[in-house]
Amino acid sequence: MESLLIWLVTLILVGVIFVPYYLKFRKRQKQDLERRKEAQALGLDKPKGQYPMIDMARCIGCGSCVEVCPEGDVLGIVFGRATIINGQRCVGHGYCEQACPVGALKVGLGDIKTRADIPLMNEYNETSVPGIYIAGELGGLSLIRNAIDQGRMVIRRIVETGTRLSDPGVFDVIIVGAGPAGLCAALSAIQSNLRYIVFDRQEPGGTILQYPRQKLVMTQPVEIPLFGTLKKEEYSKEFLLETWRDIIVKYKLNISVNERVDRVTRDGEHFTVTTIKGNYQAGHVILAMGRRGTPRKLGVPGEDRPKVLYQLVDAQSYQNKNLLVVGGGDSAVEAAVGLGRQPGNKVSISYRQAKFARVKLKNEQRINELITQKKVRPIFNSAVKEIREATVLMKAGEDMIEIPNDYVLIFAGGEPPFKMLTEMGVAFGGEAKPIRPEEAPVAR
Ligand SMILES: Cc1cc2nc3c(=O)[nH]c(=O)nc-3n(C[C@H](O)[C@H](O)[C@H](O)COP(=O)(O)OP(=O)(O)OC[C@H]3O[C@@H](n4cnc5c(N)ncnc54)[C@H](O)[C@@H]3O)c2cc1C
Repeated sequence: MESLLIWLVTLILVGVIFVPYYLKFRKRQKQDLERRKEAQALGLDKPKGQYPMIDMARCIGCGSCVEVCPEGDVLGIVFGRATIINGQRCVGHGYCEQACPVGALKVGLGDIKTRADIPLMNEYNETSVPGIYIAGELGGLSLIRNAIDQGRMVIRRIVETGTRLSDPGVFDVIIVGAGPAGLCAALSAIQSNLRYIVFDRQEPGGTILQYPRQKLVMTQPVEIPLFGTLKKEEYSKEFLLETWRDIIVKYKLNISVNERVDRVTRDGEHFTVTTIKGNYQAGHVILAMGRRGTPRKLGVPGEDRPKVLYQLVDAQSYQNKNLLVVGGGDSAVEAAVGLGRQPGNKVSISYRQAKFARVKLKNEQRINELITQKKVRPIFNSAVKEIREATVLMKAGEDMIEIPNDYVLIFAGGEPPFKMLTEMGVAFGGEAKPIRPEEAPVAR
């Protein structure tokens, strides 16, 4: 009788503790399987850029990585193991890596030899051309923090290789791009007493310049050489740009703005860097050009009209207007949200897919809110066919529609500068070299 009682109590305890856990596990697995199927159908499971690499032999399926990801559904738990659901949403925060209790996860680029979208580099970010290095997003890892870290790392490597040039007409290092990676490389070059110059085809600041006004930039504490640590996790775009401007003035950074670099060739023991203004020589070159390149065009009639824009800096300048945003990445969604919040605007967003699936979770929530409030009209499965003076002609599903329009804002990604890299002799992995533009990473 006593043992029956013990069995009964044990069974009840197991029922109370285990059954709800099991049901929750089953429910989650079902949801994650459905999400994975949907992502696979949309081709989103294949990562572009960085992604969490899971060691299945170590993973215990605890779900800590899934919980901490600020981007939502990058990861899920399927058959008791972490699995990639929407790899394209990964922007490389690395919280999953930190949260995994058994070290089964690492955020990175995988085997870059198999990837046609990443230039081949060694552990110090030196490309297949000795002396040409890559820092920042051009190498595949996004985030300001990574760009800063790599800018510092490549200069350290150049110093370690010990090649200093005695010819005063030759720079130790030429840095192409004055985004976070290039600026940080310049500061590290000052610290190491290297002769350097930075070229940028625009003003310094890099992609941050293109962010919408007052955008909150998420980062993690990061050490900027000479300057110190940026400690907070969120900064406004304006604060970050102001900080870089102060740094440029304080440390007298040698930057030539509005000077685009067109070519880099090896010239005996030096490199010759050809810009729109002339030729410069250096012992090393750091490519810190980012991946946005030139904005990708739609190639439709009327795209050359002045009302067509490829970036939105100040949404407040557009009020009481008919606006069409084209694209489905973060930049497009952030623009549609910014414009949808202005008084009197009628905002449509045209996207060739059936839903917004590559965007950050926060952006997805924001746009859905505005769609519900009828402040933004989504036109899925659509493509712009012609931009006319006061309208836009579009194919939406099987129909042709024409909508009133004052401005078109196109966020179709950028052409990464892969052609220029290939011409320098920089090799890429994978089979196709370089990758086709339509396969290139989309704008965030
Ligand atoms: C909408 C959006 C939101 C983002 N939000 C965040 C965020 O919240 N947190 C975060 O950490 N990251 C965010 N990022 C990513 C972050 O902006 C990038 O990872 C980072 O700016 C990369 O720095 P970089 O120096 O490698 O390149 P970039 O910042 O892209 O700078 C490259 C520079 O090179 C210059 N250049 C390019 N070609 C040439 C040439 N031929 N000659 C001369 N100059 C050239 C460009 O003009 C540019 O100034 C976001 C990106 C986008 C698009």
